[in-house]
Parts: sequence; structure tokens; C-alpha cells
Amino acid sequence: MIDELKGEALFIRENVKKHHEFFGSALPMIASENIMSPLAQEMLISDFHNRYAEGHPGARYYQGNEYVDAVERKVIELAKRLFRAEYADVRPISGTVANLAVLFALAKPGDKITTYSVSDGAHISTAKFGAVGVRGCEPVPYPFDRENMNIDVDGTIKLIKEIKPKIALFGCSVYLFPTPLKDLQDAFQEADCYVWYDGAHVLGLIAGGKFQDPLREGVHVMTGSTHKTLPGPQRGIILANPKHEKMRKKLDYGVFPGVVSNHHLHTMAALGITLAEHIVFGKEYAEQIVRNAKALGQALYERGIDVLCPHLGFTESHTLVADVSKNGGGAYVAEALEKAGIIVNKNLLPWDDVDSAMNPSGIRIGVQELTRIGMKENDMVDVAEIMKKVIIDGKDPKEVRKEVAELRKNFTKIHYCFTSNAEAYKYYELVKGVG
Ligand SMILES: *Cc1c(COP(=O)(O)O)cnc(C)c1O
Repeated sequence: MIDELKGEALFIRENVKKHHEFFGSALPMIASENIMSPLAQEMLISDFHNRYAEGHPGARYYQGNEYVDAVERKVIELAKRLFRAEYADVRPISGTVANLAVLFALAKPGDKITTYSVSDGAHISTAKFGAVGVRGCEPVPYPFDRENMNIDVDGTIKLIKEIKPKIALFGCSVYLFPTPLKDLQDAFQEADCYVWYDGAHVLGLIAGGKFQDPLREGVHVMTGSTHKTLPGPQRGIILANPKHEKMRKKLDYGVFPGVVSNHHLHTMAALGITLAEHIVFGKEYAEQIVRNAKALGQALYERGIDVLCPHLGFTESHTLVADVSKNGGGAYVAEALEKAGIIVNKNLLPWDDVDSAMNPSGIRIGVQELTRIGMKENDMVDVAEIMKKVIIDGKDPKEVRKEVAELRKNFTKIHYCFTSNAEAYKYYELVKGVG
């Protein structure tokens, strides 16, 4: 019995190891993923993981939080500094949980919330069948300009003035171009609504001074995941310039006791390290991400792949979208690329039926992780050439897999952070020795 179950445990460990080997020789290009710095990674195996800390530093429900309090105060301070926000709550344990907290705080069942629709790039948490629906709110979609992959500004102004939503929400999982928030100010005023920006995908770009700066563009509250373009732990955050003192209290209450009990202290510590590193390296990192995305878009386009929005330079973020319906469709292409060690996801395009989510026309590509391992514009051309062999030439993915592994050998370090892997692992040994 013991031996059998030990075997099961080792089976799990073995597969995690295989996963490491697979990703270490692949090109990870899922737009919502990233890798943490070695210093941040260490925090995940610390004793912080074993503890509880409910409430706020200095006002806890359990004892033993002296050092947790010191860390949490520092993480809040770093978050406010990086995002130039008056208010930061670092306790949400994912982007969806951050969104639930805001919904819990600022909306009631039956309230209308204007938002992107899922086929135009919204995240499920802002849909009727996701968190917005769970709160009992009514999502009302913005009119969308497919040509430019953005909201239709005139239509959106009209919609907000007409609907007078409780919240005007902006944020996408396919976010190619900034939302023209400045053009909507009058409409926000007239509707007297909360303005909420879900920056999950683009948080690292925003913090690096790219894409847009929602808190300076009339937004009251910004949520996000901390593990997409911000290369931190899988976690969430709420940043705000509260409209009034009451809003501050509501947001606080929305998180705890609203939707978070203990808030996963090890990932909180990792977030703090990520924020400090992003204050130093974020600008350089964000700029390289956008340059790489544009370079990859251009190189794919030149090789006959239908990357959207060539007339706009393909993207202003880390994300590209390609229509691969003529190449076998999103599901087929994503699977073929996976066999070659190139990891992307199939994705709905605005003209797809929502029911075709399992076989949509598009693929979504992100360059934030390739940038993090040190790739530059010329490497994007190599990546495009390899992708073309699968998508256009129909070359055997197993053959292409070898080329991918060969290319990847040149990129083994994590960039835009304080320590090398080797330095960090010394500390890793230390932490392992404790308790
Ligand atoms: C990823 C994402 C989220 C939240 O995702 P989690 O996996 O819960 O962190 C929320 N909104 C948008 C727009 C996203 O892309």
C-alpha cells in the first residue's frame, strides 16, 4: 500500500519534471503566461506558504504574522509606487478573484455593466457566464470595430450615455491596441458611472510606461493578474484612485471578507520581489516586448500568415492574432505547432460564432516570455520562419521540433531581474533547510 502510493507520488513528480524539460526546450508563446525571476521563485517554497494572515498588517485574526506584516506593508508600498496609485490591495489570489472583489464592492445584482463581448476579446470573468453573471449583473457589449480591433468610439459614447451603466468596464484577453479612454470622458461624466479597467494582460506594459496609463485616463479602479506581462506569481491585484472615501472602504470589504480569506503569503512575497524588479527593469522589458511583437507580426505577415491589423503595425501590446482559417483553422494549427514545441492557443476572432470556441478561426500569440528569456527582433524572424514551416509549408512538426530545441538552446537565462539562477539556487538550498 505504502509502496503503491509512493509510486503514485513519484509519478506526479516525474511528470512535473518532464513538463520542465518540455518547456525548457520549447517556445512558450501563450499570451497570458510568463516566468518568474529566480529570486521571486524562491519565495514559493518558503514557510510563508504554510501560514494564515487574514485582515491587514497590524490587525490580524491570527498570531505569528510579525514578518508577514512587514512583507505585506512593503508589497503594498511597491505596488503603489510602480503603478502610481493611491490605493493598492495585493491580497486577491488571482485576476478573476480581483474582479469578483470589485463586482462585490461596486455593483449589485441587476446592475448594468458595459463591457467587451467574449468574441471581441473579453475574458470570461466579464461575461454573463462568468463573474459578472455570478454577481447577477447584466453585461452590455460595446459596439466593436473589427477592422481596427477596438471599440467603436462613437457607438460606445452613445451606448454609455443611453444605458448609464453602474460600471463601464474595459479590458480584454486579446488586447492589441489601447482603449481610447480619453475620448469617453464626457460619457463617463454624464452616466456618473464607475470606470474600471481590467489590465490583466497588459499590467506589465502599463507599469513599464507602454500601452496606456488607465489611472491617468479617468479610471477609478484597475484590476489585473500579476503573471502575464507583469512577470510575477499567479495572483491578482487591485489598484485604484478611489472616487471617494466610501469607495475605498467598499473595495477593501470586497476583498476581505468578500472573496478572500487567507491570501497565499508565499505568492504575495514573490509579487513584492517582482514589483521591485519591475521598478528597475520594467521600462526596458516593456519596450522590448512591444518591439518584438511588432517584429514577429511583420515577419509572419511577410511569410503569408494572415496576422490581423497590418495597417496598424499589427499590435501595440505583447499579443498578435492571426486568422488561420485558410491553414486548417485555429484548433488544427495550434495542435500542429504544439507538436513542434511552439505553444500558442486557438482563439475566437470577432467574426466567429461564440459556439465555435473549440474550433475558432484564430490563434493568439504572445511574445512576453520569449522576450524575458532574452529574445530580440532578429530572433523573432527566426521564430517566424520556424512557425511558417508548420503553418504554411506543412512540414512534419516532429522535424521542426528539432529546430525549435536547437534555437532554444541559446536562451536559457531569465532577463530583466536581479539575480542569476545560480545565485538564487544557493538561497533555495537555505530555504529547503528550514523547518
Ligand atoms: C487573465 C485575465 C483575467 C484573470 O485571470 P486569472 O487567471 O484569474 O488571473 C481577468 N481578466 C482578463 C481580461 C484576463 O485576460
